[in-house]
Amino acid sequence: MSDIIRLLPDHVANQIAAGEVVQRPASVVKELLENAIDANAGSIILIVKDAGKTLVQVIDDGKGMSTTDARMAFERHATSKISTADDLFQLATKGFRGEALASVAAIAHVNVKTRRAQDDLGTQLTIEGSKVVHQEPVVTPQGTIISVRNLFYNVPARRKFLKSDTVELRNITNEFHRVAMAHPQIAFKFVNNDSELFNLPAGSYRQRIVNIMGSRVDEKLVPIKEETELIRIHGYIGKPEFARKTKGLQYFFANDRFIKHSYLHHAVVAAYDGLLPDKANPSYFLYLDVPPESIDINIHPTKTEVKFEDEHSIYAIVRASVKHALGQFSIDAIDFQKDTELDLPYEKARSNAQAPRIEVNPDFNPFKEQSSSSHKHTTSNRSYKSSPSSSWEALYAGLDEESVLIDQASTGAVNGETLFSLSEADNSTNIFQLQRKFIISTLKSGLLVINQNRAHERILYEQLLRQLTVQNAVSQQLLFPIELERPAEEVLILQQLQTELESVGFLFKNLENANIQIEGLPLDLKAVDVEPLLDSIIRFQQEDLPEDNFSQVDRLAMRMASKMAIKTGESLQLQQMEQIINELFACKEPELTAQGKKVFINITGEHLNSKFN
Ligand code: ADP
Ligand code: MG
Repeated sequence: MSDIIRLLPDHVANQIAAGEVVQRPASVVKELLENAIDANAGSIILIVKDAGKTLVQVIDDGKGMSTTDARMAFERHATSKISTADDLFQLATKGFRGEALASVAAIAHVNVKTRRAQDDLGTQLTIEGSKVVHQEPVVTPQGTIISVRNLFYNVPARRKFLKSDTVELRNITNEFHRVAMAHPQIAFKFVNNDSELFNLPAGSYRQRIVNIMGSRVDEKLVPIKEETELIRIHGYIGKPEFARKTKGLQYFFANDRFIKHSYLHHAVVAAYDGLLPDKANPSYFLYLDVPPESIDINIHPTKTEVKFEDEHSIYAIVRASVKHALGQFSIDAIDFQKDTELDLPYEKARSNAQAPRIEVNPDFNPFKEQSSSSHKHTTSNRSYKSSPSSSWEALYAGLDEESVLIDQASTGAVNGETLFSLSEADNSTNIFQLQRKFIISTLKSGLLVINQNRAHERILYEQLLRQLTVQNAVSQQLLFPIELERPAEEVLILQQLQTELESVGFLFKNLENANIQIEGLPLDLKAVDVEPLLDSIIRFQQEDLPEDNFSQVDRLAMRMASKMAIKTGESLQLQQMEQIINELFACKEPELTAQGKKVFINITGEHLNSKFN
């Protein structure tokens, strides 16, 4: 039998190696941006077409390359950044493996124009599938322009695995954010399909963060600064009251490189201990500077995990300095706080005062302990907070005491008689609201308990889906258009959803640039809910969600339904409750919300009987 081991041809080896460095257009963006930074650029422009699938171009004004270097740069293991293994421990550059350009050139059409300051003429090179197909002197500004076209043109299997333009563009934007936030002293521009997404002038760290994340984050930032022998920490953390249930903006940088570090993340979260609402995540932008030799750089080029030499101490320092900054901030906040009595929540301040509603507890007995008495005497409907009842036992326990909390539907008072008739009724209209959360109705077989919020969500979800897929909805014209300021990348997300948003009733007067104008709304949407709704749609699109079974249209309908639905705590009229019941049971899937939560339960007579044993 003949020998079977062969050496792979160069171009195959290169393609395989390329797979390690370049997985998607965003990886090319990262490598090219990092090369431009290593070349000491003062200004960097990123241009992409079709989310990088057609073109990724990076223009820098850095030091450029000689003709020989330009050719060498595309050889595997060609780097100007280290020459001995020892250099690895003093690394101050982003690249050092000399793999990126060779990899990119193996799987795309690459064109480079580059010139050093001391040269009159620059060099232009065209490389396809690792082969230089063209080279000539060229007139070009100092620096480097590198264009990567038709990524994976010769690896169809990989090209097939690229996600939609929306997803790939989001990946690119994330890389861009990370690099730009680590280097505020460099000016950046980012253009996608001829529209400018970011134009970031050189400035401070704070300016850079605000320019990227939007001016709304400015007021939410608390500065942090700490210097020890091991580490220098600076940056910003989010004020606790702005923490969100969604992932939050969480950025660590180590020596000007974006990193992920779950252990240090934990240190930050631990420092917020007790200050955050349940399940909320803090935002942070933390820059850690450590001596280069104390950080393990022998990492994979595309990975963002790093190892610090003395992680336990660093953990303690990070936690202490975040705690310190938070403490400092709350002291300042107290110093400047106004008379809190005069502070009305925004919502309240704008709404008309409501006449106090007097609620009398007919069973009131001053000698009896009443734990839940406080909320029986609230002065307005709005301030009502329902006590969460998780189990059925809890719901029924103390029903007597809570009876005044049963909102009386406009028709009948809840007295002994109606309560009695509830158990008797067969096809009656006995419907009432409990704890401003549940709609209770009687059935032949027993009791129907509907979660008002979830039921309405299901109804709206199906209605919106119909509008999104078949018919166009009616919209309510606004007398005064709503205006919103949003950063370009968020406007872009809305642009991508424009058709869908319009088919449910949104009318946009302007959705071209940062200043959004809306002149029409879906029928059931209140003007005050527009901003939170659009923001939650944007957040939802931005989050890195695992691929799920929901289509774009599904998700939009889910978002809108959950924002527009009647909330827990809202008091309902009989007519509204009847409508909800009718519409709910006209739904295709009345049992569950779109997210799969139970909408109603049925308590049978047998179940009730068993409770009386
Ligand atoms: P690495 O960055 O790991 O050295 P790359 O393949 O990314 O490897 O780049 C190879 C070499 O090409 C770099 O070491 C650098 O000398 C040169 N180079 C790449 N991009 C640029 C650029 N934009 N300006 C100047 N030189 C560059
Ligand atoms: Mg590099």
